[in-house]
Amino acid sequence: MSLEVIVSKIRICTLCELHKSRTLAVPGEGSLNANVIFVGEGPGATEDIQGKPFVGSSGKYLDKLLDLISLNRKDVFIVNIVKCRPPDNRAPYLDERNACLPYLKEQIRIINPYIICTLGKTALETLTGITSISKVHGKLINIDNVELFPLYHPAAALYNPNLRSILESDMYKLKNILKSYKKNNQLLKDETTLDSFFHN
Ligand code: SF4
Repeated sequence: MSLEVIVSKIRICTLCELHKSRTLAVPGEGSLNANVIFVGEGPGATEDIQGKPFVGSSGKYLDKLLDLISLNRKDVFIVNIVKCRPPDNRAPYLDERNACLPYLKEQIRIINPYIICTLGKTALETLTGITSISKVHGKLINIDNVELFPLYHPAAALYNPNLRSILESDMYKLKNILKSYKKNNQLLKDETTLDSFFHN
């Protein structure tokens, strides 16, 4: 499956209840050659209207964070765990996350980055089962041969100056990790890697 096919499937997807309240689905966007995929929780109000990920206030802050380490949106790929906005910005329910995960799995398989950066608690918990972001943020973790680098969500850091300095310092750590990686450091060593990671 190509990224274009995934996008077209997501745009008309009705696999979970979130399709009923969305304006536009938000498939994600970025470079096909990205070394990093950033995975957030779900679209907010602005994203729901524009159909693009991280275009509201937290998106502007994410742009600044990327700029800090000399990256921009063209260099990375940005997605969410669920592609449709949960009503009132609530966290997506487990059945909604599970329904949407096959899209993310395909996106990761196609892009095959070096690292997956989870943004916030929901993405971390959904992909790893780890519930305490404070214990693992800014650390490279390897689960089933997939490397993840958990970060706080930009929205959380926007409202908490203490988290902001932690998140910015974690971005510099990410920069150093990426610098140490060479070509062929791709995440997926073989076809089965993602199946183990996603447990199917
Ligand atoms: Fe489909 Fe995901 Fe949207 Fe649910 S959130 S309707 S699974 S695209």
